Amino acid sequence: MKRWNGWGDDANELDYELSASALAYLRGLLGDASPLRDATLEETLARVPASRLPEHNLYSIDPEERLRHARGQSLPDWLALRSGEPGLFPDAVAWPESSEEVRTLLLHAQAHQIDVIPYGGGTSVVGHINPRAGERPVLTIDMTRMNKLMHLDKQSQLATFGAGTTGPQVESQLAEQGYTLGHFPQSWELSTIGGWVASRSSGQQSMRYGRIEQMFAGGKIETLNGTLDIPTFPATSAGPDLREFFLGTEGRLGIISEVKARVTPLPEHESFHVVFFPSWEKALSALRAIVQARVQLSMMRLSNAVETDTQLRLAGGGSAVAVLEKYLALRGAGDGKVMFTFGVTGTRAQCKSARGLALKMCKPSGGVNTGTLLGKKWEHSRFRSPYLRHGLWDAGYAVDTMETAIDWVRVPEAVEIIQSDIAAALADEGEPVHAFTHLSHLYPQGSSIYTTYVFRCAQTYAETHARWEKLKAAGAEAIVRCGGTISHQHGVGTDHAQYLPAEKGELGIAAIDGLVRQFDPAQQMNPGKLLP
Ligand SMILES: Cc1cc2nc3c(=O)[nH]c(=O)nc-3n(C[C@H](O)[C@H](O)[C@H](O)COP(=O)(O)OP(=O)(O)OC[C@H]3O[C@@H](n4cnc5c(N)ncnc54)[C@H](O)[C@@H]3O)c2cc1C
Repeated sequence: MKRWNGWGDDANELDYELSASALAYLRGLLGDASPLRDATLEETLARVPASRLPEHNLYSIDPEERLRHARGQSLPDWLALRSGEPGLFPDAVAWPESSEEVRTLLLHAQAHQIDVIPYGGGTSVVGHINPRAGERPVLTIDMTRMNKLMHLDKQSQLATFGAGTTGPQVESQLAEQGYTLGHFPQSWELSTIGGWVASRSSGQQSMRYGRIEQMFAGGKIETLNGTLDIPTFPATSAGPDLREFFLGTEGRLGIISEVKARVTPLPEHESFHVVFFPSWEKALSALRAIVQARVQLSMMRLSNAVETDTQLRLAGGGSAVAVLEKYLALRGAGDGKVMFTFGVTGTRAQCKSARGLALKMCKPSGGVNTGTLLGKKWEHSRFRSPYLRHGLWDAGYAVDTMETAIDWVRVPEAVEIIQSDIAAALADEGEPVHAFTHLSHLYPQGSSIYTTYVFRCAQTYAETHARWEKLKAAGAEAIVRCGGTISHQHGVGTDHAQYLPAEKGELGIAAIDGLVRQFDPAQQMNPGKLLP
C-alpha cells in the first residue's frame, strides 16, 4: 500500500539511508540536526473530523481513506502529515471505474453542492489536491481504478488510456505490444497520465518523446456542463485547440477520464553517458550549441559545480570517487567541474550518430567523456532520488525544490540569483541552506532551471514550516524577478497561484477565469487552485 506520510510503497525496500560520509558532509555544511518526531497513523486518524457527507454507495467516508487523500507530496504536505495535523480532509473519496461513473459522480456533486477534487496519483508538489476550507463538503475523485490501455491504434500510433493509469501501468501495457509512451517524470512510479495532462508534466526524456503537451492527442473530459470528446488529428488549423483548454488546468474545468496519447515503438537501443566539463560557462556554451544544432539526444542534464560535488559526496565519496576526481583533474576538470549526463534513444544507428556528434561538440569546451558507467548509475537511480527524502528526514534535514524555465539569454544570471537567494533565505535566523542547481530540460530557446535545497528542521513542525515559507518565497520571487515562468513542470496549485499574474497579466488571468466559469459556473471543481 502507498505510504500515507511519505514517498513510495510501505512494502518496498528503496529507502535511502544516508551513508556515514554523506551524513558527515551534510553536518559539515549545515550543522548537526535532530529529527522531528513523526506522528503515528493512529494518532493522525484520531484527528480526522466526522464527514459532512452522509454514507452513500457512490463514495466512502472512511477516515483512513480521507486521510490518505488529504495531502500531496510537497514539503508542507509532508510536514502536515508527519506532525499528525493535516488540518483539512476531503469529506469522501470515490473511485470511478468508467467515464459514465465519473459523470454520475459529477451530477451528484452538482445536485448536492459538493466541491470536487480530481485526484490522480496525489504526487502534486504544489498543493493541487489539498481541500481548502469552505462551507461546501469536498469529494475527492480518485481516478486510479481507470488504469487500462483501452485501445491501441498501431497505424496511427495512438493509445487510449483510462486517465488514472500510472507510469508503470502505462509502460507495461504498451510494452506488451511493443510500444512506449516515453513519459518519465521522476514521480513516474505513482503519478498518472490524467494528472500529467492536468498539470502539464514533463518527463526526463522529453527531448525525444516531447512533453505531455506533445503526447496528448485528445480524449474524453467530463465537466459539470457536459461531456467533451476531443478528437485526434495529426494537426489542425481549425481555430483554438481544445486540448490546450485542459492542459495545465489542474482539475478546474472537469475530469479527464480518457487520454489518447501519441506513442512510439520501443527503441532498439538506449544508453546514458556522462561528460565532465572544467567549468559551468564552458559546459553551457557546449550544451547550447548541441541543443540548437538539434542533435537528437533523448535527455540532457547539466549539474552545476555545487550539485556535481553534492552528488559525488552523497553517492558515498570513497576511493572510486577519489580516483575519478584525480583522473578528471589530470584532464583539466578539477575544482569547479560540472557534470553533464545525456541519453541517446532510438535505432542503433541513430544513437551512434547522436552520441558521436554530442561528444565531438563537447570536446572544444574541454568535455571529458567518462563513458557509460556513471550513465548506468543515473539510469539505475532515476526514480530513486525521491526516496532520499526519507534518509534526509530521518537525519533531521528537510529538502525541497524550485524550478522554472527561461530564455538562454537569462539562464546564467537566473541560476545565480535563484540559487543564492534561496541559500540566503534563512540568514535572519543564522541558518545555512545548501542549494544546488541543474538544467534538465534544454530547448533551442532556453532551459529549465531546477534548484534543490536542503536545510535543518527547526525545533518544531511550525518553525520548520515557517522556514519553508521563507525559502519558497525567496525562490519564487527570484524567479519572477528574473522573468522565468513560475513552473516548468510542477504546475501552480495553491503554492504558486499568487505568482501566476506576473506572467499571465491581468487580462490573461481574467481569460483563464472566464474559461473556468464556462465549464464550472458554480466554481465546484478544485476551487482555490491555479487562480490567485
Ligand atoms: C518526487 C517527485 C518528483 C516529481 N518529478 C516530476 C517530474 O519529473 N516532472 C513533472 O512534470 N512533475 C514531477 N513531479 C510533480 C507531479 O508528479 C506531477 O505534477 C504529476 O503530473 C502529477 O500527477 P498525479 O497523477 O500525481 O496528479 P495529482 O497530484 O493527483 O493531481 C495533480 C493535479 O491534476 C489534477 N488531476 C489529476 N488527475 C486528473 C484528471 N484525471 N482529470 C482532471 N484533473 C486531474 C488534480 O486535480 C490536480 O490539480 C514530481 C513530484 C514528486 C513528488
